[in-house]
Amino acid sequence: MTISNDADRANLIEAGKRLAGVLAALRAKAAPGVSSDDLDTLAETLIRARGDEPCFLGYMPEGAGRAYPATLCVSINDEVVHGIPNEIPRTLKAGDIVGLDLGLKHHGVIVDAAITVPIGTVDEEAMKLLSATENALAAGIAAAKVGGRVGDISRAIQQEIEGAGFSVVKELGGHGVGRRVHEEPFIANFGKPGTGEALEEGMVLALEPISSAGKSSIVLAPDGYTFRTKDGSRSAHFEHTILLEKSGARIITA
Ligand code: MG
Repeated sequence: MTISNDADRANLIEAGKRLAGVLAALRAKAAPGVSSDDLDTLAETLIRARGDEPCFLGYMPEGAGRAYPATLCVSINDEVVHGIPNEIPRTLKAGDIVGLDLGLKHHGVIVDAAITVPIGTVDEEAMKLLSATENALAAGIAAAKVGGRVGDISRAIQQEIEGAGFSVVKELGGHGVGRRVHEEPFIANFGKPGTGEALEEGMVLALEPISSAGKSSIVLAPDGYTFRTKDGSRSAHFEHTILLEKSGARIITA
């Protein structure tokens, strides 16, 4: 969506604060012995307790064979994104890295964010993968400027991930958000600066670098949602919803 009035702007900012609060609670809860289903239940409970709606639950992405069955996506180790937490619950264990991706709707405005968290102590490669992917998100946000192009964001994200020796997952990427879970433009995590759609004041975008410690190829599991790396290497994912303002990108889900 493009923000054009104070009411939408206020709702967007409040939605982002609420989502950040839920993700912080999930981060605190994620520990060895906790199940993915526990995390999903906590996410849904916290969202509904404040009168908001989970917006992944029941969502039907383009091309999907069925609606998404949970509030949260929980993607563990070689799972890239869209891991289903509640159909076959998984128990987190020390050494895992776990992607938590969540969207909520507050007064008609949708926001989307994700973190990847280490469970207990993880190895050095996992820590490097997490920090490179988080740095890529920061670089993408810094490159998101009114008057620029989508490709500026794409290139900044790619440089950060590849510069750290990891791969960009090419099939997935960021998107517009606000009225619907996925809006135009698609924001690839690789590309050329100065190309693609123009970045305009008031645009609401979800930036989401998705990386792999090995090769970039991914495969879709029989559940129709969970993407895994083809070579079994681990993957990380960080996401913020941002608002483009004249002075720069404002992080809505910080
Ligand atoms: Mg997203």
